[in-house]
Amino acid sequence: MNMDNVNDNACLERIYALSADALSKRQMPVLPDVSALAFCRACLFESIPDHGIGVEETTNHLCLDVAPVLNASGLSPNYYGFVTGGITPAARVAESLVSLYDQTPQVHLPNETIASNVEDRALSLLLDLLNFDRRKWSGVFTTGATASNVVGLACGREFIINQRLKACMGPESQGSLGSLGLLKACRMAQIDEINIYTTMAHSSLYKASSIVGLGRSCVHDVRRSGSGFGFDLEDLERRMESGQHNSVSIVVVSCGEVNTGLFATYGRRDLLNLRSLCDKYGAWLHVDGAFGIFAKLLDSVAGFERVAQGAEGVDLADSITGDAHKLLNVPYDCGFFFCRHPDLAQQVFQNPNAAYLDTKTAPTDTIRSPLNIGIENSRRFRGLPVYATLVAYGRDGYRDMLHRQSRFARAVAAYLYEHDAFELLPKNVFKYRERIDQNIFIIVLFKAKDDGLNEQLVQRINASSKIYVSGTVWDGSPASRIAVANWQVEPHRDLEIVKGVVEEVIKTWAKGK
Ligand SMILES: *Cc1c(COP(=O)(O)O)cnc(C)c1O
Repeated sequence: MNMDNVNDNACLERIYALSADALSKRQMPVLPDVSALAFCRACLFESIPDHGIGVEETTNHLCLDVAPVLNASGLSPNYYGFVTGGITPAARVAESLVSLYDQTPQVHLPNETIASNVEDRALSLLLDLLNFDRRKWSGVFTTGATASNVVGLACGREFIINQRLKACMGPESQGSLGSLGLLKACRMAQIDEINIYTTMAHSSLYKASSIVGLGRSCVHDVRRSGSGFGFDLEDLERRMESGQHNSVSIVVVSCGEVNTGLFATYGRRDLLNLRSLCDKYGAWLHVDGAFGIFAKLLDSVAGFERVAQGAEGVDLADSITGDAHKLLNVPYDCGFFFCRHPDLAQQVFQNPNAAYLDTKTAPTDTIRSPLNIGIENSRRFRGLPVYATLVAYGRDGYRDMLHRQSRFARAVAAYLYEHDAFELLPKNVFKYRERIDQNIFIIVLFKAKDDGLNEQLVQRINASSKIYVSGTVWDGSPASRIAVANWQVEPHRDLEIVKGVVEEVIKTWAKGK
């Protein structure tokens, strides 16, 4: 490998120039050209070259064949697919430091690096931002909300099974699920069923359930019939009660449903009801607040009381999932997991018998090595961009950002509501115009009234390449979904862009008929 005479600074300069160019564009195509995609796909190396082409040639390849055919999901304020977020300037700056130092914060080495202190502080600032009591909650960074749900179910599983083990084997028993394993622990605790009760759960909860050995089929939707995504508390209690001798359960609250942005609970009373059922039957209460947890930031903003209620009372849960690469606008991949039982994660994630990773710290130092309370043993220093962006913009900056995003989502919803050609979904929620200004958070779900147009709506909107929306299915029909998550949103400017695209789609559809 010849690494002597390459001018990698010049290569970096080219990449910086490319990013400066991309960042300076206020409006850019949200999708690359399809023919360019096909062309560039053919330019990718099919096999490893015997002799590498070197950094300069590789930089050419990246600048000419890769960068131009990436989409603008993180760069453009008009990309409304999924909930992607972008990267704030402060997070971008911090991210380059992450790459430069290439340092893993997984082992707490307070006399050698400040990395784990920074992550610990970043988690504390996040707790502050979301108004959680730092003394009661502790956290860990994950790769995203899916991983946080895995950690949440793993902790929940540990807790509920260990409780039963103690009840069966006596309080002195040393066994725990983490050491015994699921099969043996369940046999000793006389458990033959583990259930997860939820409403309108994100698909990743089913995945997480499979990963931790509970299975996708143990996730049950106990939604109340009628409008809204709330729990049917009677059904929930009946199920918990009927299985109380041989089963244990985890209750998961969808704090922000991904298709609609609506919430499973509204206000502290709803969480209190779930909490008391969980206490009565020894269940674990987990909240999936990937993006919804940020609604807490709007609790003092006039007009957003109902949305803020969607995240009210979540401090009554045992554990909480959040995404930082969505509404916090830091780079992929970054999620967080908060828990109210400080020693539990260690029972699950303890990396045992690795003396070389044991670090002696001062007795007053309470920081735990992240490798013993989370999934990875090595990973990137993903807490640094979180720390940087929170320090740079503060609580007010984030409140303002979310307020802009929400106002814009409401303006789009109102425009579609008034429009003859469209219908807001869920229909029973948006029966009245006032509901928009109560319920819309950052997602707008809608369909065209004309079935033919509706079939093609997402494709026709995205063909403009001025905005991007994602498709989904709602009540058996195709639906379109606008998710607002980028820090650069400007409600007035962006509303005009959306209107322009939508009017054009309507016009060409009418002409084609
Ligand atoms: C996005 C999302 C997830 C999954 O998040 P990833 O970051 O993709 O792992 C889980 N739950 C909810 C509610 C989400 O919105």
